[in-house]
Amino acid sequence: MKRSPLLFATAGALAFTISAAEAANVKITPLGSHDGEFCRFDRAMIFEDPDGTRILYDAGRTVAGAGDPRLGKIDAVLVSHMHGDHVGDRHTKAPNAGTCGKPDISVVDAPITNTVNIAKAKGAKIITGSEMPGFFKSKLKAIGGNPKDSLLVRFGASRKLGGVTLTTVPATHSNGVNPAFIGGELGEALKAVGLNAYAGPPTGYVVTFSNGLVAYLSGDTGLTAEQDLVVRKHYKANLAVINIGDVFTTGPKEAAYVINEMVKPASVIPSHANQVSTKGGKVIAGTKTDAFSKAVKVPVHLPLSGKTMEFDGSGKCAAGC
Ligand SMILES: [Zn+2]
Repeated sequence: MKRSPLLFATAGALAFTISAAEAANVKITPLGSHDGEFCRFDRAMIFEDPDGTRILYDAGRTVAGAGDPRLGKIDAVLVSHMHGDHVGDRHTKAPNAGTCGKPDISVVDAPITNTVNIAKAKGAKIITGSEMPGFFKSKLKAIGGNPKDSLLVRFGASRKLGGVTLTTVPATHSNGVNPAFIGGELGEALKAVGLNAYAGPPTGYVVTFSNGLVAYLSGDTGLTAEQDLVVRKHYKANLAVINIGDVFTTGPKEAAYVINEMVKPASVIPSHANQVSTKGGKVIAGTKTDAFSKAVKVPVHLPLSGKTMEFDGSGKCAAGC
C-alpha cells in the first residue's frame, strides 16, 4: 500500500508534539521566609505546568501578601485546611524579614486571610474540598471579589485547570476555623468557649500535570491507609511533598514510613518542619529534615526558598536540585 506524504507529515508532527510534552518539566518553586533556606514557617510552593498553568499551594505566612514579587501570574490557590499557618492568618512584611527561626510575620490578614487577598489580586481560583469553598466564597464577596472563583473538589472527584487535573485526598488532622476569621457575636461566643467552627475534614491534594508528573501534597496529616490505597494504588503519585514537623503532623520517622512503605514515590520534598532546617542551603545535622533524609530510601530534595526545581513526568528531578 502506498502511503500519502500528508499522512507521514501528520504522524511526524504528532510524534514531535508527544516527545516535546514528555521532555517538558514541571517547575516547583518554594516561597519560604528566607531566600535559599528551609525555615520554620515554610509551606508555600508554586507549581508550574509545562503549559504555563501556575498553582500556589498553602500560601501560609511566608508569602508577603498579594504584592509579593515572587508570585507572578497565579491561576489557582490550593488550601489543604483552615489552620492559620496554611490559610494565612498573617504574613511576612517582605521576603527575608526577621530570621529563619523567627520570621517577621507582623502583617495581619484575619479575618480575610492571605489566601483570599492573593486570589482576588491575581484573579485566581481557590480550589478546596470539604466545607471550605463556602468560607472562601463569603470572604471573596466581602472584599469585592467574585465568589464564583471559589471552587469545590471533594474526595474522589477531579477538576481540570489548563492541562492540570486536581483532586483532594483525605488527611488525618483537624480543620477548625479560628474565631478570628469569623468575628461578630458568633466569633466571640466560640472564642469564649475555646472552640473553632466546623469546616469539614482536612485534605491533601493529588495534582496530575500534563507531562505525567503526579504530585501528592500531604497537607497536615498523620499516617493514613489512604496514602497506600488511594494515593499510590489509584493515583500513582510519583512525587510527594510531605509534612514532617511532628506534634501537629507526622514526624520525620512517621513521614519516612509513609514514603518508604505507602506512597513509594520516585522522589520527595519535605515540608512544614517547624524549625530552622538549613544553613547556607545545607541541612543542619540533628534537625527533623536531617532525620527524615536519612530514613527515606528515595532522593530527598530540599524546599529552598526561591530555588526552582524541575521534575520530569516520572517524578525525578531533572534540574535545580
Ligand atoms: Zn494544621
